[in-house]
Amino acid sequence: MNRRLEAIDHIGVAVPNLEEAKKIFCGALGIPCVEEKTVPERGVKIAFLSTGNTTIELLEGIGENSPVSKFVSQRGPGVHHLCFEVADIASTLRELGESGVQLVDTVARTGAEGKPVAFLHPKSTAGVLVELIEK
Ligand code: ZN
Repeated sequence: MNRRLEAIDHIGVAVPNLEEAKKIFCGALGIPCVEEKTVPERGVKIAFLSTGNTTIELLEGIGENSPVSKFVSQRGPGVHHLCFEVADIASTLRELGESGVQLVDTVARTGAEGKPVAFLHPKSTAGVLVELIEK
């Protein structure tokens, strides 16, 4: 089988309150916050934290209809998704779709980092939402 996914790009963590989560992750745990942004079209406020070799994406939903807000209200705060690097997102999505993996996005869209991203459905990936990012 082809190795489709490469290194983990980041780990997404859904939180009810970004400022409170930053007090824990950046304050108590001492992981530097390297970037913050709001992405209204995705309904999220995001903080990217970097340990040096791993990036953590803290996500707070904006409003009740945000998928992240729904995740937190239904499942509680916690790990939301794993993001893997891929070399060619279009061909990876096509191959995964052909092999029966359920896709949230059949076509990549621009993610918070300005790079092409797409999500795989957690029903196909052991209950874990998987994000792909082309780098
Ligand atoms: Zn992500």
